Amino acid sequence: MFNAPLHPSSLSAVQHPLAVYGWDEGWEVEFAPYAAQGLVPGRVVRVDRGQCDVATSDGVVRADTAFVVPRDPMKVVCTGDWVAVDPEGTDPRYARTILPRRTAFVRSTSSKRSEGQVLATNIDHIVICVSLAVELDLGRIERFLALAMSSSSGEALLRKSADSWESGAQPVVVLTKADLVPDPVTLAHLVQDVEGSAPGVPVLTVSALHGDGLDVLAALVGSGTSVLLGQSGAGKSTLANALVGADVMDVRAARDVDGKGRHTTTTRNLLALPSGGVLIDTPGLRGVGLYDAGTGVGQVFAEIEELAERCRFHDCTHESEPGCAVRSAVENGELADRRLESYRKLMRENQWIVAKTDARLRAELKKTFKRRGAEGKAAMEAKRGRWS
Ligand code: GDP
Ligand code: ZN
Repeated sequence: MFNAPLHPSSLSAVQHPLAVYGWDEGWEVEFAPYAAQGLVPGRVVRVDRGQCDVATSDGVVRADTAFVVPRDPMKVVCTGDWVAVDPEGTDPRYARTILPRRTAFVRSTSSKRSEGQVLATNIDHIVICVSLAVELDLGRIERFLALAMSSSSGEALLRKSADSWESGAQPVVVLTKADLVPDPVTLAHLVQDVEGSAPGVPVLTVSALHGDGLDVLAALVGSGTSVLLGQSGAGKSTLANALVGADVMDVRAARDVDGKGRHTTTTRNLLALPSGGVLIDTPGLRGVGLYDAGTGVGQVFAEIEELAERCRFHDCTHESEPGCAVRSAVENGELADRRLESYRKLMRENQWIVAKTDARLRAELKKTFKRRGAEGKAAMEAKRGRWS
């Protein structure tokens, strides 16, 4: 390496001014062709109406996104994207391209056309926040996990990136408001319950009120980009403020209310954390649903999938078939009934979501229903024939 430390382009990726926003050697390699064209890299910290705020080496600039493959909802510029922007000129400049996404956080839209909507990109950690102030809903935790675990290995993530419908970030479950469960034995049991629903996933407890566990969480999100998921009231904003070390979320809300215009430092949806790492918090991330998370469901319920391999019928639905290994595991107490119910529910839901987007699968399902209908009719007629 050369010793000319004052110019960003000759600095190693970790010394790069954008390193606090997650810039690394991988991005540098991806960006090389655009650097050759004289463009500069930046990370999108906020998007609104065809324009976006981009953090660059020279600070936050405003850029127009009209050039970047419009119309495809999956390719609309999103918070978390790395983009190549015009090096100078008055704002808005132009964002010329999006670097291939490592991961994309997608939600199903409620519209009939069921296109995906990208909520955030290039996410490494999904922090699932669960409040200890209310009774634990393990089914809800499983649902969030299925969403987070749709893709597993880093390799697959990189390859799948651009057109993937899956998220593929590392999940962690954070039980918030731990101060409300002062008895350590009770707290340990709650953690155990959650661990049972989240095999292989770290489960932490934190109290933003007392500061307990925040250091562990800060270390976990200290590299890469994180998002906080969870129900309203789970303590996400409080946690974000604790991690950022300022009342950023409140400040932003206040400004949004009084409508006194935009202030770049408080309207960002992507923030560099003082202890390292990057946090994305967009309004759209609230209340995410499940989107084509079939593989994710399988991973969250690995023990059920394993049992299912021993069912007599390979397409066993574990409802009433003879020789069902899953149901016998429930009967002898190896598998919680609640967990099987949760699995079924997510599988059913997932099948419909996939069917909405995948015409071929939809046609197949239709055929199955028709065949079942025909079989039912034939059976009826046979019966009738017998008795008439
Ligand atoms: P969000 O909707 O997920 O962003 O949740 P908020 O961060 O707005 O928190 C919801 C409520 O929980 C607020 O009244 C907070 O004061 C409260 N809260 C957040 N963190 C803690 C905590 O660590 N302990 C306790 N006791 N209350 C908390
Ligand atoms: Zn079965």
